[in-house]
Amino acid sequence: MTSHSSHPHGLELHNAGQFYINGEWTSPAVPALLPVINPATEEVVAEVARGSAEDVNRAVAAARAAFPGWSATPVAERASILSKIHALILERKEPLAQALTLEMGAAISFSRAMQVPLAAEHVRVARDLLSTYRFQTVEGSTAIEREAIGVCGLITPWNWPLYQITAKVAPALAAGCTVVLKPSELSPLSALLFAQLVHDAGLPPGVFNLVNGSGPEVGATIAAHPDIDMISITGSNRAGALVAQAAAVTVKRVTQELGGKSPNVMLPDADFAKAVPLGVLSAFRNVGQSCSAPTRMIVPRARLAEVEALAADTANALIVGDPQSPDTQLGPIANEAQFSRVQAMIQAGISEGAKLLCGGPGRVPGFEKGYYTKPTVFSEVGSAMRIAQEEIFGPVLCILAYDTIDEAVAIANDTVYGLGAHVQAQDLELGRAVASRIRAGQVHLNHPAWNPMAPFGGYKRSGNGREYGVMGFEEYLETKAIIGFNA
Ligand code: NAD
Repeated sequence: MTSHSSHPHGLELHNAGQFYINGEWTSPAVPALLPVINPATEEVVAEVARGSAEDVNRAVAAARAAFPGWSATPVAERASILSKIHALILERKEPLAQALTLEMGAAISFSRAMQVPLAAEHVRVARDLLSTYRFQTVEGSTAIEREAIGVCGLITPWNWPLYQITAKVAPALAAGCTVVLKPSELSPLSALLFAQLVHDAGLPPGVFNLVNGSGPEVGATIAAHPDIDMISITGSNRAGALVAQAAAVTVKRVTQELGGKSPNVMLPDADFAKAVPLGVLSAFRNVGQSCSAPTRMIVPRARLAEVEALAADTANALIVGDPQSPDTQLGPIANEAQFSRVQAMIQAGISEGAKLLCGGPGRVPGFEKGYYTKPTVFSEVGSAMRIAQEEIFGPVLCILAYDTIDEAVAIANDTVYGLGAHVQAQDLELGRAVASRIRAGQVHLNHPAWNPMAPFGGYKRSGNGREYGVMGFEEYLETKAIIGFNA
């Protein structure tokens, strides 16, 4: 059994073959390993333990036993541990960035500047809101109390591995919940470093537990487990629906952050020279592998030629390459399955008759190995085309033309998803009016700065519930009314 792997760039992964359960590193019940593949080289870079139902049972038992103690800890004590976790993420930012780049191919500059610092922000936010959050309010003779929901099963994806973990673990711990985390089997390395960091922060045994493994084995066992009270999953619609079905039997609360096909509406008065390049860059951020990536640029027909030129220039200027190189903007796609899917969707766009402005199918010249994909922009995309309807999750942008603002709104809403949306307008009143007509959980007006307090989540098939800030925190709380509290 591999329990220690070492890597280039100084990244040390102890305990890769183990799980973190009840405050210690422990071997799986049934020895089995899962390979972790570096998408830049297609080589196996580590092997992690592959869990089974027995491992989940042990982790849930530990979390259950720890719940009465942790949920009763003074809020200040929970805040203090979150402060330590936050400080340790910042202190260990370089090994965390290296792990992320190794496991999912993010450009190292992106891992350092975005993946790790934004992950730390979720911990800071959870800590900070503990200082003002009112767990009890009294109105008349009735008290409303908010209490930790219990043991939480947290299932995370591979695209923002550490960020998705802290977006769930930090508010859960802040609320007084205990957790069992199952990171994506495709990106489990940063999660192992995170578990060690949580241990080093002094969290009591059993409060945080980590079991690696596949969705159908470990994930499905978590979803159905009778002793888990709540599940939060980020991932595909397929997995989100399966988890909800399995969780329904034991009437768990299920929070889902699922797919997206987010529109970016350019209103006629937008500053196109600025807004189009920014729109392309945000669609291609993280190699397009973000659930809220604005992948449908909806533009006035009269401005189509100008938008096409700006979009193609921006995409063609992107530096795709070795994620370890400091100049690289886009590394490879994170894994082979995703690479194949993106290739198939690019082919679908061509077959459906969309106009290919740049990029296209096939590997990036000069890269025989690695899941490198050409930044691809399609224009003259019809809203009914597959590339306009299905989540691609790669560097593929669709440009759709509209004649009237009503039509722009109709195209924006012509999707089963409703996660993110962007609106570009110099007239803020007009921008706000269009934002209010879009059925999505977050609308970004004129590319504002990221706000970790803004609730994040989906309308329609993009999910249920919210993450981040106060609303994200409240997903981990139950509500109790004590009537007759004041005589
Ligand atoms: P996935 O949904 O299969 O995996 C996400 C997580 O769910 C992983 O931890 C996985 O092990 C787990 N899981 C899978 N099946 C499960 C089951 N039956 N029960 C419990 N847990 C289960 O995602 P994927 O296969 O890695 O990616 C597929 C597609 O999902 C992508 O093409 C993309 O469209 C979408 N995706 C969305 C997000 C997002 O942030 N919304 C993230 C990753 C992928």
